[in-house]
Amino acid sequence: MPTASAMQSNGKTRSAARRVPPAIASGESPVERKLRRLGLVAPQDFVVHFPIRYEDETRITSIASLRPGQSGQVEVEVLRSEVQFRPRRQLSVLVTDGSGDLVLRWLNFYSSQQKQLAVGKRLRIWGELRMGFQGPEMVHPKVSRADVELPTSLTPVYSTTDGLSQASLRRAIDKSLETADLDDTLGPIIRQRYGLMPFGQAAHLLHHPPPDMSYGALLERSHPAWRRVKFDELLAQQLSLALARAARLRQRAEPLAETSGLVQSLRNALPFRLTAAQERVTDEISSDLMKSFPMHRLLQGDVGSGKTVVAALAAAQAIASGAQVAIMAPTEILAEQHLLKLAGWLEPLGVRIAWLTGRLGAKSRREENARIASGEAQLIIGTQALIQDKTTFAHLGLIVLDEQHRFGVGQRLQLSLKGEKPSSGNALIPHQLSMSATPIPRTLAMTFFADLDSSVIDELPPGRRSVVTKLVADSRRSEIVAHVQAEIFAGKQAYWVCPLVEESEALQLQTAVDTHARLVQALPDLRIGLVHGRLKSEEKASVMADFRSGRIDVLIATTVIEVGVDVANASLMVIEHAERFGLAQLHQLRGRVGRGSNQSVCVLMYQQPLSWLARQRLRAMYETTDGFEIARRDLRLRGPGEFLGVRQSGLALLRFANLETDVQLVEQAQALATELLDVDIDTARRHLARWMHGKQDFLRT
Ligand code: ADP
Ligand code: MG
Repeated sequence: MPTASAMQSNGKTRSAARRVPPAIASGESPVERKLRRLGLVAPQDFVVHFPIRYEDETRITSIASLRPGQSGQVEVEVLRSEVQFRPRRQLSVLVTDGSGDLVLRWLNFYSSQQKQLAVGKRLRIWGELRMGFQGPEMVHPKVSRADVELPTSLTPVYSTTDGLSQASLRRAIDKSLETADLDDTLGPIIRQRYGLMPFGQAAHLLHHPPPDMSYGALLERSHPAWRRVKFDELLAQQLSLALARAARLRQRAEPLAETSGLVQSLRNALPFRLTAAQERVTDEISSDLMKSFPMHRLLQGDVGSGKTVVAALAAAQAIASGAQVAIMAPTEILAEQHLLKLAGWLEPLGVRIAWLTGRLGAKSRREENARIASGEAQLIIGTQALIQDKTTFAHLGLIVLDEQHRFGVGQRLQLSLKGEKPSSGNALIPHQLSMSATPIPRTLAMTFFADLDSSVIDELPPGRRSVVTKLVADSRRSEIVAHVQAEIFAGKQAYWVCPLVEESEALQLQTAVDTHARLVQALPDLRIGLVHGRLKSEEKASVMADFRSGRIDVLIATTVIEVGVDVANASLMVIEHAERFGLAQLHQLRGRVGRGSNQSVCVLMYQQPLSWLARQRLRAMYETTDGFEIARRDLRLRGPGEFLGVRQSGLALLRFANLETDVQLVEQAQALATELLDVDIDTARRHLARWMHGKQDFLRT
């Protein structure tokens, strides 16, 4: 008879299997190939492939007592079994257990499955109950015989890949548990210090939970066996990050010590005094730049905290020592803001600046590239265009990435390689300063950014008043329009941000144009400008210049103004359909006001009904203006992968530990990692070998 797992597989997996060439040079079987795709090669890889969840097949539940969304096992008799063709070909099986009826559906199925599900058969079914068109149903449930004893313990479920059944994965893991080395990588003293269960015991418990093991503790991963595994995982991550860091310290970079007094001249020219926080981070960066290994520093500071001037001082130091500096921003408008600001500060001091964006005409671009290649240009400001292959730097010493989270990891890497001179054989890596207004919560910083040094500007320039946030249903639009008018009559300016339309850029453009037309009609006395992503660079620049100089009262904008725009007289920000924006985006947009000393207001207009997530985001915006608190909530709502956008980085996200709940474990693992690398490198290596097998790419040592 077919096994439960055969029943689970479907046509898709079959055709995938067929596409795999039958014989591979290495003699690898198709199953081995799929296992390898999961990173499972050596026995120890299988051992640490722990279940992602468990199914409770120890009990039989009645159909009547299962709620939609709940999973459970029922014991049933087949009443009807037929292949249906609408809405598409599928096997539909009606079953009952006396308490109620249930429809089982398979969209892909084998004839052997049909036989197993013939009328009159008694079977056990495990799956999630849903409400379908025909009443309660389960789609692709797991089927097994009713005439065998119930298992006495929970059934582990593993993450798998197409065409690899739970049963064969489980078999492979069980076999490895017998042959693999389960010796503890951590000795009894360390185990005792951190209250850790022996590894072998934890591994057996998690792969084969005994009947008396608490279901709750197992599911919530609070059981001591889980605690051990999470600790081990975090320790491996901390060790590999520490090794990556050690590798960076062995790389070479040019020490950039100022010799010409340019930094002091810039300080003297500034129209304001640096805040204490700006002074502190400037010192940190300055001493990094003088080292002979590359700086990797993340400068975090809330919107409006004054990161640009810190970057300018770092640039001045590098330029004064004879190196080139590249400043890269994620959008044209932001790059242009930097150009204006930095040129205003540095050009009078004799610094030669080049400007490079994708919108530049071919001729200007060639000219700018020539100035960069010859070394004539000292400061290069631009967008992603900077990392295009044609740009070669004469002597790149420092890279500044603004709003670093908006760049992919690959892009950051590409730019840092621009500093290398492969022919010299003695590659110099540029120093790198990343800036972000999206603060990284501490646990994330300790895990995924442990290789970055971090500087934080934790104070705003004096005289700022925090922005008042109002949540307003869009049925009250006319009140908001009146509010805009009042603000302009009082001599202020306003932003009006158009709804984000993720599905279609054209639609987004249309809404911006419509909004503009409507406001022009509603507020005929005001000067209303429009800026959006489809405008040419010069058009965008001229609208922004008009707004800056006060020739425009209200700026209608798509999210192109999200970062970096700096107009102190703007005191009102209206965001339409605020429920569509992400938390970080809303915080950035709100940061566009409150830059001067006026009381500023941010109006978040929303449309009912709100999803749960949207409600949480709007509540967060209403309750706090603290960027760090917002980032924490954002992390909680989105999870670390989304938050970081690091999926593509290859740096495997943690599989078992949870950065929200396992803060203490992160701290302990970090402390132990430092200690082991110091005094017990053998233990460190043993531990890494167990957890990072096959992932040595990340270890660079
Ligand atoms: P962000 O950190 O968001 O990039 P900016 O660098 O754009 O912030 O700075 C916001 C505004 O504050 C700019 O107009 C800048 O010139 C001004 N600013 C920066 N530092 C100070 C300071 N120490 N005192 C007063 N104004 C400052
Ligand atoms: Mg900025």
